Amino acid sequence: MDTKLDPSRDDLPLMANTSHMLVKHYVLDLDVNFESQTIEGTIVLFFEDGNQVKKQTSSTEETCQLESSEACTFRAPEPCHIPATNARTVASKLGYNDFAICDKGEKDTFDKDGNHDNQEQASGISSSEYCCDTRNHGREGFLLVLDCCDLSVLKVEEVDVAAVPGIEKFTRSSKLSVISEELRNEVVGELVTLPADRWREQLDYYARCGQAPGCGELFFDTDTWSLQIRKPGALTASDFPHAIRIWYKTKPEGRSVAWTSDQSGRPCVYTVGSPINNRALFPCQEPPVAMSTWQATVRAAASFVVLMSGENSAKPTQLREGCSSWHYYVTMPMPAATLTIAVGCWTEIKLEKDLVTERPFSSSEANFRFVCAGVCGHVEYPCRFQNASATAQEVIPHRVFVPMCLRDVCQETLLPLIPPCLSAAHSVLGTHPFSRLDILIVPANFSSLGMASPHIIFLSQSTLTGMNHLCGTRLCHEIAHAWFGLAIGARDWTEEWLSEGFATHLEDVFWTKAQQLSPHEAQEQQELRACLRWRRLQDELRNSPEEMQVLRPSKEKTGQVSDSGASVVKHGLNPEKIFMQVHYLKGYFLLRFLAKRLGNETYFSFLRKFVHTFHGQLILSQVIDGFLGAHDVQLKGMRHVEIGLCQHSKRKRIDYFIQGGNYEQSGHKEGSVLFCPQLLPDQLVLLLEHLLEQKTLKPQTLQSLQRTYRLQEQDAEVRHRWCELVVKHRHAQAHRHVERFLLEDQAMGVHLYGELMVSEDARQQQLARRCFELAKVQMDGPSADMVAQMLF
Ligand SMILES: [Zn+2]
Ligand SMILES: [Zn+2]
Repeated sequence: MDTKLDPSRDDLPLMANTSHMLVKHYVLDLDVNFESQTIEGTIVLFFEDGNQVKKQTSSTEETCQLESSEACTFRAPEPCHIPATNARTVASKLGYNDFAICDKGEKDTFDKDGNHDNQEQASGISSSEYCCDTRNHGREGFLLVLDCCDLSVLKVEEVDVAAVPGIEKFTRSSKLSVISEELRNEVVGELVTLPADRWREQLDYYARCGQAPGCGELFFDTDTWSLQIRKPGALTASDFPHAIRIWYKTKPEGRSVAWTSDQSGRPCVYTVGSPINNRALFPCQEPPVAMSTWQATVRAAASFVVLMSGENSAKPTQLREGCSSWHYYVTMPMPAATLTIAVGCWTEIKLEKDLVTERPFSSSEANFRFVCAGVCGHVEYPCRFQNASATAQEVIPHRVFVPMCLRDVCQETLLPLIPPCLSAAHSVLGTHPFSRLDILIVPANFSSLGMASPHIIFLSQSTLTGMNHLCGTRLCHEIAHAWFGLAIGARDWTEEWLSEGFATHLEDVFWTKAQQLSPHEAQEQQELRACLRWRRLQDELRNSPEEMQVLRPSKEKTGQVSDSGASVVKHGLNPEKIFMQVHYLKGYFLLRFLAKRLGNETYFSFLRKFVHTFHGQLILSQVIDGFLGAHDVQLKGMRHVEIGLCQHSKRKRIDYFIQGGNYEQSGHKEGSVLFCPQLLPDQLVLLLEHLLEQKTLKPQTLQSLQRTYRLQEQDAEVRHRWCELVVKHRHAQAHRHVERFLLEDQAMGVHLYGELMVSEDARQQQLARRCFELAKVQMDGPSADMVAQMLF
């Protein structure tokens, strides 16, 4: 009974049974092969046992009530107790309940007394006889469930950590004479709980254990969404090996990474920020509650650079002729979904020496005062908030990688923006949570304008045209995610406003500071952007399904998981969701309302306190509410905000979010902008949006508009509106601008296809089809499906 989800339209299942075992560290060892478009190698997972999991869960209980009841009753996975809001999801969750593991080969290849058999590891990875079939049913025992899809799993084995020289210091016994499962698990237990000031030693032993021999294959099976692993005789999670190695290979069509070519035509691969996150890149525990550290060794041909979420600025080590290896690591535990990787032939660009303002700083080696109690609320790790020189660092070290052909424009537009934007962020929020940053201009098929991951920001080429305004705001937005979205994550991904609302609100604040605008100019700019967003929000409220507009669709059940730890992300796989900004915008207006009510000074000091308290942790909306209350922030009108957040947000409730800033009545300079000889990009957007509301416009008006403002040379936001205007009025003279937009600004062009088709103009429909033919090979799945639907 394996009822399959319709992967293109549904909730996203999170299958891992995190209530029983939690991954604490991943060691990845991978080869990137562009010919076969695969990433192949091993991943070693180190687990914390159930008792530790339970302890940790209860310590974070004060702020959120995550119902991880009975974390220590292990047997076969229980049916999921998720309310039957979606029959198909529940059915599929039950699907693995009658999953059966074969007995084949169970006659111990490892000795129950613990004498490990090192020959086992030489057995190769081509195919494992332990890959389960389903002939024999009904074996009881603990089943480890990992999130996994579109991966070929070749072999799973227990890792003999006891074979690592020097490892006995992590056990109570001085000599490892009798090696048992218990002893190995004791070693891993000690290793995963080493204090933060021994992070380097810990990382080193993780690496060594990662290379330790195997000591017995484990049974495994895969289905659409998960990898299930069992060890005969292991009835509970505590009996189950706490270090396991998985040999696997990605598939070219796997939805976590895109194999494509960069703007200079050279091959590359990168994590696309897929709705299914990283489960087609490596088997993992996806639920955000499984916060872990990682390290990775990645090999590729020497002409490629490997960029990854890692706190070290890795440099390549040449292996054999034509092959290099890159090693990255992080010491701050984060959800596996945040790990990002990109491999391509990019060029690093640098500012001229005399413009470099940053001071060399090595956060990792510096002297940390490890006084977590009182200072930091998270689990122990070498935190920058506890380090005086890290705290004072305005601009963190950064590298910028771009495709060869965009070198000049990046040198001119992007590079000079980075130090002022980083420094602006520091002046508002304080300590940068991450020690360094790589910025990459991603290929043209990237489906949004930017994406932030630990230590790496992706920017779309669409941010590079026109003035530096779009590039600056987008950069500021992604920088803000270092605090909101990464250092402070959402415990439940349905609450994306927690990261997007903050990042959208802060991008304006950072950007006005980075430009060094006067308070008056800053306010003007921010009001104008609020006005544009208000229009966008109204438009989305009118045109999107109401249930998709709710900030907390799971309501009071937000953050709850089943006994095993499994859950779903509501609408997580719905393709429409990707193109919606409602959550960004509502979150933004909520925070804007808060800032107005409190006054900037109080609001930002509140934010800094919030960051100080919650960095390194996962939160829910209630946490913000509770924190406000605890800090005596009594707001008249706050009730309405809560209502808006917690219940179905009807349009009239949204109005409460913006009381104090009524755009409809201020009319926002509509008259005056029309007569301005030179307009800023946001003003142009507003002007074009107003013109879009006109039923008819003469071709001459359109032509002079284009000439006056050189619309085809403006940033992508302006050009987008211009293209809409061109399509609406079937202005054939500017069709080439639309064509260019569809090909070069793919992150924004999806809806234009629809507009071209509904225009019922044969030439425009042809244009849409022609462009789609050219772009579709590179487009990501959801975008391509969406456009295909519009065209036919
Ligand atoms: Zn901290
Ligand atoms: Zn964002």
